[in-house]
Amino acid sequence: MKNLWNDDEAKHYPGELGQRVYTSRLLGRDTTLVLHGGGNTSVKLTETNILGKKEHILYVKGSGWDLETIEADGFSPVRMAHLLALAELDKLSDPQMVNELKTQMTKASAPTPSVETILHATLPYKYVDHTHADAIVAITNTENGKQRIEEIYGDTVVIIPYIMPGFDLARLCAERFSAEATDNTIGMVLLNHGIFSFGETAKESYDRMIQLVCRAEEYLQQQGAWALPQPLAPDEHATALRTTTAKLRYDVVKAAGKTMLLRCYRDPRSVDFARRHDVASLSQQGPATPDHVIRTKRLPMLGRNVEAYTHQYKEYFDGYAPGAKEPKTMLDPAPRVILDRDLGLVCAGRSAKDTAIVGDIYQHTIEVILRATALGGYRALSARDLFDTEYWDLEQAKLRRSGKPPQFSGEVALVTGAASGIGKACVDSLLQRGAAVIALDLKSAVEANYERPDYLGLECDITDNAQVEQALEGGVQRFGGLDMLILNAGIFPGGCRIDTLSDGDWHKVMSINVDANLTLLREAHPLLKRAPNGGRVVVVGSKNVPAPGPGAAAYSASKAALNQLARVAALEWGSDNIRINSVHPNAVFDTALWTDEVLQARASHYGLSVEEYKRRNVLSTEVTSHDVAELVAEMCGPLFAKTTGAQVPIDGGNERVI
Ligand code: ZN
Repeated sequence: MKNLWNDDEAKHYPGELGQRVYTSRLLGRDTTLVLHGGGNTSVKLTETNILGKKEHILYVKGSGWDLETIEADGFSPVRMAHLLALAELDKLSDPQMVNELKTQMTKASAPTPSVETILHATLPYKYVDHTHADAIVAITNTENGKQRIEEIYGDTVVIIPYIMPGFDLARLCAERFSAEATDNTIGMVLLNHGIFSFGETAKESYDRMIQLVCRAEEYLQQQGAWALPQPLAPDEHATALRTTTAKLRYDVVKAAGKTMLLRCYRDPRSVDFARRHDVASLSQQGPATPDHVIRTKRLPMLGRNVEAYTHQYKEYFDGYAPGAKEPKTMLDPAPRVILDRDLGLVCAGRSAKDTAIVGDIYQHTIEVILRATALGGYRALSARDLFDTEYWDLEQAKLRRSGKPPQFSGEVALVTGAASGIGKACVDSLLQRGAAVIALDLKSAVEANYERPDYLGLECDITDNAQVEQALEGGVQRFGGLDMLILNAGIFPGGCRIDTLSDGDWHKVMSINVDANLTLLREAHPLLKRAPNGGRVVVVGSKNVPAPGPGAAAYSASKAALNQLARVAALEWGSDNIRINSVHPNAVFDTALWTDEVLQARASHYGLSVEEYKRRNVLSTEVTSHDVAELVAEMCGPLFAKTTGAQVPIDGGNERVI
């Protein structure tokens, strides 16, 4: 564990709140301290209010903010006097507590204060830092975790037995702190949960956090529990797992009752863990710190029997729900973490961002479990305690508030020829509707078009079968399956009449515009068949299908062949619940093909201005890549749910087509 404090960097964060922002970010930068919204920090300031009265204000991390990227606005200012008065109460329910915190903020637009706000208020230090450090949870999730913590820290920390975050924990911490803290005390360890440090400056509190966690890491080293066992290399022969993955995703989605993505991790450590002979005993205990349960559920699924998992989950819910204080609504019973001999570590989530968060959390969990095992055995919290966190009032309320997700959330689309033009516009339209997108292109530029978790750009020559298979394998490993296939890639060679058309040019056009699409359709079929809401294919055809032009024999013939291929696919695949429809664009000029010079030349050829030339159609309207892409995306949606084998022109109206 490195201390990341840097004097020069710190100078860019002026003021007491600025320093609070800086060291919060330092904590957030280290994934072995906090992960994805975990942990929280605070600072106590004195401010003059609008009436000229001095007030003590606690600035505490607001919910929805991540320590790594937090800003001053991410801290909620809450009146200290009220917080300290609340801490004296005997009882306060979570919804009541949230209400009290919100009504005592001095800025109405600030985020909801952390549920650990009262705890922060009662600690008599200006700065308070809280993390779920891996080393601390590895040590405390063991049989005699408490003794180990005593042995490591003596009276430098106060030890708090496990209790759920919220008012009761705040009260317990305040009691134990005032009874047990000495002049040596610089922190507090919450068994099975995490650690607090505190100080009079941001630097002091941060330094102490690092110092305390370092001591835990050194202890693990001394106990021979730090170095992780060397994973065996994953099976070199593991190939073609995409259909197995898509089948698993289908089952997960059916169990969840909503579309979801899967992400497979096949790094040596994850595969090795999934294949351990004792994976059942190691993995079937619970998460390293309770708030992970919201993301990972209590237990991973072993193997691929989703039905058995959901059955067990329902039993768990039925077992603990009756003992809860308020009536509970069961969450979907589908797994979020799957450990499978062949697929490795598989994480499920509503979006690509969610699956990546689950993946990060579980990869850290594997390390925590292995270290605790080396200490003598991993012991997570009881199912009862974890149920209470999973079904916490505040989380249940969040569930009720969550709005309608975007149209294609939890679904996957693949677009060919996606680096520019209509292909890239299709990527935009699909991303905007919430789909995760696998974008293929001959040009490597496709890889860097977007940097976001729901986008995977792959350089791929679609005329090379091996590359197509590899791309599908990679795409499914990242997102779990395939729901929508957009066949857009194609070439339009310059005008060439039949009497001079060479075999080579003819074959080249056919190989890209027809043959490659046959390969894509054939290889995608087993995946599309397992699309939970039915597979959808949209073919980007051409006006040249109904209305060919002279000098475009190879192009027109290839698009016509592709058109027939799509129609036959519509006939053959209807019983697999796959729909195939085509769009026939014409004169889409905002693509790389149409430079200003080319446009100018074509326009003067017809004696028109460029503007007139662009609108040379029945409606006198310009057709853009975006227009085509929007139609393509809609054809994948509910508007076209009962349409297959259709061909829709998007050309502003063409007399020859009409
Ligand atoms: Zn915590």
